[in-house]
Amino acid sequence: MSSSAEPVDVVLVGGGIMSATLATLLSELEPTWRIEVVERLDAVAAESTDAWNNAGTGHAALCELNYTPERADGSIDIAKAVTINEQFALSLELWDHLRAAGRLPDDGFRSPVPHLTFVRGERDVDYLRRRHAALTAHPRFAHLRFTDDPGTIAEWAPLVMEQRHPDEPVAATRADDGLDVDFGALTRHLVADLQARGATVRLQHEVRRIRRRRDGTWRLHLVDRAWNASPRRTTLDARFVFIGAGGGALRLLQSSGIDEIKGYGGFPISGQFLRTTDPALVGRHRAKVYGKAAVGSPPMSVPHLDTRVVGGTPALLFGPYAGWSMKFLKHGTWMDLVRTIRPSNLVPLVAVALHNLDLLKYLVTEVLATREARMRTLRGFMPSARERSWEMITAGQRVQVIKRGRGGGVLEFGTELVTAADGSIAGLLGASPGASTAASAMLDLLRRCFPDRYAGWRPELERMMPSLAGPAGTAADADAPHADPDLGTRDPAEPGAADAGPADAGSAHADAADADAADPGPAATRPAGRRPSRPSPPRRRDTPVA
Ligand SMILES: Cc1cc2nc3c(=O)[nH]c(=O)nc-3n(C[C@H](O)[C@H](O)[C@H](O)COP(=O)(O)OP(=O)(O)OC[C@H]3O[C@@H](n4cnc5c(N)ncnc54)[C@H](O)[C@@H]3O)c2cc1C
Repeated sequence: MSSSAEPVDVVLVGGGIMSATLATLLSELEPTWRIEVVERLDAVAAESTDAWNNAGTGHAALCELNYTPERADGSIDIAKAVTINEQFALSLELWDHLRAAGRLPDDGFRSPVPHLTFVRGERDVDYLRRRHAALTAHPRFAHLRFTDDPGTIAEWAPLVMEQRHPDEPVAATRADDGLDVDFGALTRHLVADLQARGATVRLQHEVRRIRRRRDGTWRLHLVDRAWNASPRRTTLDARFVFIGAGGGALRLLQSSGIDEIKGYGGFPISGQFLRTTDPALVGRHRAKVYGKAAVGSPPMSVPHLDTRVVGGTPALLFGPYAGWSMKFLKHGTWMDLVRTIRPSNLVPLVAVALHNLDLLKYLVTEVLATREARMRTLRGFMPSARERSWEMITAGQRVQVIKRGRGGGVLEFGTELVTAADGSIAGLLGASPGASTAASAMLDLLRRCFPDRYAGWRPELERMMPSLAGPAGTAADADAPHADPDLGTRDPAEPGAADAGPADAGSAHADAADADAADPGPAATRPAGRRPSRPSPPRRRDTPVA
């Protein structure tokens, strides 16, 4: 077993969009810090971040109904949509900054694709009209167009209207400034740039254990997966650790032994998409068309028919179809779920299983659905769809957060940034925090884990993302919770959905952010082994209640 002599300043576990974004920010803020990315696969961006493992929607709340729930009085709550829009704007600003600095190529990873919302039936047409009125009153959405004219929708999205019954009430909204983003390509560009600036990337190295050392630094135990015959083990010491391991984050946070992770469990949900590259179809659809989730289905099951541009080649994608697997990563093992069961999360796990029978029933139905049943769902969106044009592909794995709560345990569809009390280690839990909001999520991490440095970093951050200089308290200020834009609230047309609140995307995150804003907490103490010029610990109140 070998070990590096001097701890590196920052180790990021996992080579997805989150680690790449955080490392990019840190490389600008602290160019002298030693940064190392450890990835278990033979390439970065090969899990949820890979282009075909997600839908590639640049979530700006231009088309997703679940960000605008209807209140009990019939009014539309647009607060979450505004937050998501502001958070995506931060990502765009960061990418623009990197392009201007020659650190990212001139696009190729993002393509203009209009964002549409499409609904059917009188009730939903009425809801969409009221939603449009509420959104366009806000400057960020003033450009959103609405129509209930089938002819106009046929111009906007011909495949959606072709062979549709002429008497069916339909409506749509359209934003021309939507994007399709190849988050995989973006991440590979970011990682290549980091390497050019001196960061180390270890591929095919899996972090198996993380232990705190006496001097307050962390020791990561790695296995070299390329060494097939007898796995070669090594260790890596770090002053600050970010666990951006997607579905692998829960187990690694548990391994670190921090109190804040106690009581957390994970519930995996897999997904599939239908995809076509048939030029006759691809050439006739240029939009991301989001619909409404079926009543009773979980929020991530909102159906959408999307133009995707991956490697410069356009294709169409429809889905997602939910499934179930015990794996926490697409390239994980069937033991992933079992390995995260601990005495501290047993009660929440059992409680969630007992209280979410409707979700389990939904998943069983989805898993057992025949290909014909799946084609029927597609035909609800695109009546002329023919089976032979479409292939089924497996998407990334989501791991929903289970934690202590009412009735013993609650299932959350959002994300949670878990940080140790001293801020020397942090990890993202949840059903993918939404690649679109990576900049906002990582800004939140910087603020929480490096509170004594954040104010000093602020001018440089504002140079990278000018809207950070906007009014305090907005999402752009990074003090608002980041939400998983791919997830959301209950059925937006369901009465009282807004009152029930969002499906808690980032709820603990929000609590923690609020607590931090209200009380800066005691002064930081620096653990032994840390040099003053290196990452230093945060204040206590940054940590969400586990
Ligand atoms: C079906 C689906 C659709 C989605 N659609 C969208 C969308 O349209 N728009 C959007 O913005 N977001 C979307 N998302 C969410 C988005 O894909 C994720 O938020 C994002 O990719 C998560 O990035 P990450 O870096 O946290 O994790 P990942 O991309 O999963 O990366 C984690 C990395 O950690 C590595 N790793 C894990 N364990 C270890 C270990 N022990 N040691 C070393 N390495 C390890 C993994 O191999 C992986 O490379 C979608 C997600 C899914 C599943």
